[in-house]
Amino acid sequence: MQPLIEKLQSELGGRLSLTLGLAILAALALQLFLMLAGSARRAFYERRHRRLSLDRLRLQIKEAAIRCEEAEQQKLVWNGCRKFKVTRKVRECDDVFAFYLAPHDGKPLPPYKPGQYLTFQLDLPGRDKPLVRCYSLSDSPTRADYYRVTIKKEKAPPDKPDVPPGAASCYFADVVKEGDILNAKAPTGHFYLDMEKKNPVVLIAGGVGITPMLAMANAIAASGSGREVWFFFGVRNRREHIHKEEIEKLVAANDNIRLHVCYSRPSPEEVKDRDYQHEGRVGIELLKEVLPSSNFEYYLCGNGAFMKSITDGLEAWGVPEKDVHFEAFGPATVKKKTPPPTPSETSFLAKLSVTFGKSGKTVRWDPAAANLLEFAQAQGVRIDSGCCAGSCGSCAVAIKSGAVDYAKKPDVEPEAGTCLTCVCKPKGDLVLDA
Ligand SMILES: Cc1cc2nc3c(=O)[nH]c(=O)nc-3n(C[C@H](O)[C@H](O)[C@H](O)COP(=O)(O)OP(=O)(O)OC[C@H]3O[C@@H](n4cnc5c(N)ncnc54)[C@H](O)[C@@H]3O)c2cc1C
Repeated sequence: MQPLIEKLQSELGGRLSLTLGLAILAALALQLFLMLAGSARRAFYERRHRRLSLDRLRLQIKEAAIRCEEAEQQKLVWNGCRKFKVTRKVRECDDVFAFYLAPHDGKPLPPYKPGQYLTFQLDLPGRDKPLVRCYSLSDSPTRADYYRVTIKKEKAPPDKPDVPPGAASCYFADVVKEGDILNAKAPTGHFYLDMEKKNPVVLIAGGVGITPMLAMANAIAASGSGREVWFFFGVRNRREHIHKEEIEKLVAANDNIRLHVCYSRPSPEEVKDRDYQHEGRVGIELLKEVLPSSNFEYYLCGNGAFMKSITDGLEAWGVPEKDVHFEAFGPATVKKKTPPPTPSETSFLAKLSVTFGKSGKTVRWDPAAANLLEFAQAQGVRIDSGCCAGSCGSCAVAIKSGAVDYAKKPDVEPEAGTCLTCVCKPKGDLVLDA
């Protein structure tokens, strides 16, 4: 019996040792596995961290290179006026000419933001001071050797046929010729397409308002970004179809740009779907019909009535104000919404008097007027103007007494004792030398 018990005990002991041994082995193996897994995970995270650091470094180098390039380009921007030679003058259509301008000093030109304009100082015969006028740059902003502006001859208004036609635009159309030298300030303006963004855009142009839109479409095409563009252009007919061939070529070469040309008065020889896509004006109904949704950023340029009807339509369609950008070539018909004055402010403003000394007029200030320039024009007082945005300085008028308020600081500092009438309002009773 004893040997049997001893045998059983030794067998049991052996199994226990084996189980224990196996358990220890398993624990060791698990520990080894966990160690290896931990190292592999650490190595993976370290590698990822190194890769991210490398990516960050590459990005920082790229940003630094862009900043250097911008700084270099900034150096090309000039102060005051620079001389430009008219290298080509091309008749685009009735009363519209494109002017290709090369810097007279032969040095490279800074790129501009698509939508910006040049400010010309024109020495017109018979004038004691230069006439200042702004013209949008109409070509791709990346050309370093020339700028292009496209100018429409401005006729006398239909209701005032006896007044002289547009001084600067007629000078460009009738007098300026290839080889002439013109003085221009560097490109400027706050109405431009943000080329960093990739979101789809709708460009809407009426007549000569095509110029900044063409720069925008050209810029998108030149960038190769494939950014989605819906391009609407309204004119009466072929005779007003500015840059027709260029726009058609641009669209043919870029699938991302969809063109919709509207002729409001096509002539019998003009063919739909060849010369134009829609009969009628560009309006909100057409936008609703063509666009897949209202969810776009909109850029508009055209005459007052055109812009008013489209901005009103976009607002009614639910497009947020921040997504609608526009530029007026003349007095603004569309105004960015600002908080209305309080009743006490309104009653204070309505009591102010504005005297236009040279014109011999004293009138009550209209609290609804956007600025002194607009107010003066409404009173029949003519003040010269250019950019209507406080950038070119051509609407400066001497203040004989009183003071003015600027909603935002103008780009150019007005000379002491003067105000930039296109961007200011009276602060109290005011006497202007106009
Ligand atoms: C930012 C910006 C960009 C622009 N870009 C372009 C562009 O790309 N292309 C373009 O063609 N234009 C553009 N313009 C418009 C341009 O700057 C000029 O306003 C336009 O050419 C008319 O200038 P003008 O000197 O020819 O006319 P003005 O001499 O200023 O005359 C303007 C109008 O007033 C009338 N007038 C003249 N005398 C009187 C009087 N005594 N009483 C009443 N009316 C009178 C004229 O007959 C004319 O119809 C732009 C304007 C701005 C602000």
